[in-house]
Amino acid sequence: MARVYNFSAGPAVLPEEVLREAAEEMMDYKGSGMSVMEMSHRSKMYLAIYEETEAILRELMGIPEDYSVLMLQGGATLQFAAVAMNLMTGSGTADYIDSGNFAHGALVEAQKYGDAKAVASSKDDNFAKIPATTRESFRPDADYVHICYNNTIYGSRFTTIPKTDATLVTDMSSCILSEVVDVKKFGLIYAGAQKNIAPAGLTIVIVKKELLGNASPICPIMLNYAIQDKNDSLYNTPPCYPIYMAKLVYEWILDMGGLEAMKAYNEKKAAILYDFLDSSKLFKGTVEKKDRSLMNVPFVTGDEALDAKFVKAATEAGFVNLKGHRSVGGMRASIYNAMPIEGVQLLVETMKEFEEKNIFLLRFCNYFRNSNSDRTFFT
Ligand SMILES: *Cc1c(COP(=O)(O)O)cnc(C)c1O
Repeated sequence: MARVYNFSAGPAVLPEEVLREAAEEMMDYKGSGMSVMEMSHRSKMYLAIYEETEAILRELMGIPEDYSVLMLQGGATLQFAAVAMNLMTGSGTADYIDSGNFAHGALVEAQKYGDAKAVASSKDDNFAKIPATTRESFRPDADYVHICYNNTIYGSRFTTIPKTDATLVTDMSSCILSEVVDVKKFGLIYAGAQKNIAPAGLTIVIVKKELLGNASPICPIMLNYAIQDKNDSLYNTPPCYPIYMAKLVYEWILDMGGLEAMKAYNEKKAAILYDFLDSSKLFKGTVEKKDRSLMNVPFVTGDEALDAKFVKAATEAGFVNLKGHRSVGGMRASIYNAMPIEGVQLLVETMKEFEEKNIFLLRFCNYFRNSNSDRTFFT
């Protein structure tokens, strides 16, 4: 069995222990004679899995009783519309921080349902940082303020939440369970599962119950949080198997020591990569230091051909899915919870070797490309 180090942004690597456990239980889940994916979602056995899954998530994140946990379909992208249809129904306005492509997608979708506005943007800096805001940045009557906590494509993240009295809504698709968050600071948290939780097909929504029940009349039943809450996300067939996989991942995180320990592990992993990027003569990170993501690390050499050469060499060495998103170029290493620290250490070793082999060549090319070169060739 040859497993690669998979740096995919999503669907992403899952813990090996979890995959093993799922494989063991594949044909016969606890003496039922069937796989979890073959069970009725109304069966006693499945409902026990469902309840346990919710209970462990509540324990891990410290989700208070007055918040509902929903397990839905449609991905984070469908939540862009659901959030607006459920919550932008008071003043009909909502303020968005435009910190990257998913943040922007959420805004554009919400604009179909009301007065959604970008109150701050880092577009002019190619989203290399989190835009600064003050309390005054937001409209006083906004139904909510929306942020994308971790910008998967650009590799930035909020390290503090914006100051506002409005209900805070956040997309945590690519950082949920990677660090401790104070759920009480948010009215609603949503996340597609395929980055840090489970296979694709499951979307988590954690919403304060007092926000429920004000959905727009055009809101489809499946997107109506109050209806989903009343039916424990079992209005129709839920994504049964990804929910079961989420349970195994939550248990794995508990075994790892919970979110405090997960955060420490993630910081250690990210530091290995960022420290190297900061000392490298060939590779460099693309995000302002203070806003760097713990989960998604974009980097470039500054030379497209060399980037492609690195991706190819790394792939051959068993480090896959390192090609950057087309809007940033270069490389991106997504180092979610399930990426083992050895994967990051070995990647950095590979980068070091590549740098040693190629730095001379790069300087040589630059020297001749730039006829006014200040003769830094041999420095
Ligand atoms: C991946 C991602 C999305 C899109 O998720 P889907 O589940 O594919 O709809 C949205 N927001 C963020 C922050 C993401 O990382």
